[in-house]
Amino acid sequence: MRRASPAGRPAAGGRAPRPRDAQPEQLGFEGMPERLFVCTPSRLGAYADCPRRYRHAYVDRPAPPKGPPWAHNSLGASVHTALKNWYALPADRRRPEVLPTLLKGTWVRDGYRDDAQERDVYRRALGWLETYVGGLDPADEPVGVERVVATKTGVLAFNGRTDRIDSRPGPDGPELVIVDYKTGRTGLDADDARGSQALALYAYAAERVFRRPCRRVELHHLPSGTVAAHEHTADSLARQVTRAEQTAQDIMAAERLIADGGDPDAAFPTTPSPRCAWCDYRRTCPAGAELPGKEPWAAVDRPAEPPAGQG
Ligand code: SF4
Repeated sequence: MRRASPAGRPAAGGRAPRPRDAQPEQLGFEGMPERLFVCTPSRLGAYADCPRRYRHAYVDRPAPPKGPPWAHNSLGASVHTALKNWYALPADRRRPEVLPTLLKGTWVRDGYRDDAQERDVYRRALGWLETYVGGLDPADEPVGVERVVATKTGVLAFNGRTDRIDSRPGPDGPELVIVDYKTGRTGLDADDARGSQALALYAYAAERVFRRPCRRVELHHLPSGTVAAHEHTADSLARQVTRAEQTAQDIMAAERLIADGGDPDAAFPTTPSPRCAWCDYRRTCPAGAELPGKEPWAAVDRPAEPPAGQG
């Protein structure tokens, strides 16, 4: 992802140079530890996608108003909570017949075009869940469901909520696996699992919280019933942690620029991209306001049926 440096210059090679020279000298007491950057994967991801979006979400107070809620977020939240509640049932009650009750109980109604679209999406989501739980062993008890894992590095105080943490046999005993549910339209492959900083940070933290190896990360794409997986190594996890630390240092440098009276627009520059169409702050941002936005339900809309006789 190409983005600009906090000083407003485009970053060569898709990564902003760390603005060491631009950083004001940090004052503190000798021997005092540096402040850790408290973060979640979505916080780091917001900055990596667009520093200005990060600023609106996490720095500006009061935050600028967001656009209306998105139907795809409602869908994702509904499905995630239904699966959480599936695992909250005793094993002998984890049967497909309970799914309509679970999904209705957690259904979020925001963002849909109309009742007909909402009903259509509900039926689709129920079908995904029926297929998905059909492939699960109801007797399996995950190590964690929506479990928060947290750890510290020299720069980060990281915490994040995992969708699920499984325990599976490994060559030297049980190993942990990070499972992340996906409900978007497009399928995912092993490169998505390998490149996900969030999954890597969850694995890194889970390994420390549970004191058990955690190298495998999986994206479970419910609409297609596919699993995209990657086996990390200690080195690949360490590289993702280093990248996260660099992002945190960039953010802290940009925040210091503002604290020292710098221009917030320069400290947190825009990164216009196709994502702007889906940005909550498009109406506030000069770059986004120039681009056409999406309707709140666009991501869950079915493609138009071809006329009879075609396709
Ligand atoms: S509209 Fe685009 S450039 Fe503006 S804040 Fe959102 S993602 Fe960034």
